[in-house]
Amino acid sequence: MSILEKLYEGKAKVLYRTENPEILLAHYKDDATAFNAQKRGTITRKGEMNCAIAAHLFQQLAAAGIPTHFIDHEGAQMWVRALKILPLEVVVRNIAAGSLCQQTGLTLGTPLKQPLVEFYYKNDALGDPLLTDDRLLLLQLATPAQVEQLKSMARRINNVLQPFFQQCGIILVDFKLEFGLDHSQALVLGDEISPDTCRLWNQSDTDPKRRVMDKDRFRNDLGSVETAYQQVLERVLAHPIQSIQ
Ligand code: ADP
Ligand code: MG
Repeated sequence: MSILEKLYEGKAKVLYRTENPEILLAHYKDDATAFNAQKRGTITRKGEMNCAIAAHLFQQLAAAGIPTHFIDHEGAQMWVRALKILPLEVVVRNIAAGSLCQQTGLTLGTPLKQPLVEFYYKNDALGDPLLTDDRLLLLQLATPAQVEQLKSMARRINNVLQPFFQQCGIILVDFKLEFGLDHSQALVLGDEISPDTCRLWNQSDTDPKRRVMDKDRFRNDLGSVETAYQQVLERVLAHPIQSIQ
């Protein structure tokens, strides 16, 4: 399929139109950013690694009946269904880390009795602030029915991904999702699921620095970033897609 013009360049991916208006091509970049793009760098081979990890996870989610935008992938390129992305970051947390610790005083690593689902406003200029349900409705970022559906889909996704990563010897601490609407206005999981968008800890290591297998290695200058992403890729690909009903 021939590539047409560039539609949008984000921090981690470039989206291109294709000759089919319902299909976009996402090129995963090696560029890495953190702290709302105040910190920038490159992670060698990140694009192809994240693309392969995300492709595998999207296929595992599809096998569990969750609608995703994934169509196909090759190298650092992923063909996806064109969606109208909601300006929301849906975050699921199993263990306290990051801004949850900073904003609540919970100790890093505290297991949460039940997964926490949070919405953030996807707006770089405002610093992606945490939303309440009422603010979300006030800003008309989603309808009340969509809010409930997003929460339920986020929990279902966690119920697939958490055991999947556990089989890989990886603890799924938290992750960020983006959803969009397809041509029939149905909610579909979009964007990516990768070490850029998840906190992943090596199950067999309790050292708070050594266990980190995600973008926190880049954020916090922990070193061996490529090696960590490569390990996630190898472990994920070693676990074939299972049909889950
Ligand atoms: P950002 O800089 O916002 O993190 P990325 O580089 O990660 O952006 O991704 C590029 C853009 O692609 C984002 O705005 C994301 O919401 C959007 N996007 C992801 N999946 C789809 C899709 N299926 N259809 C349309 N846009 C999408
Ligand atoms: Mg992104």
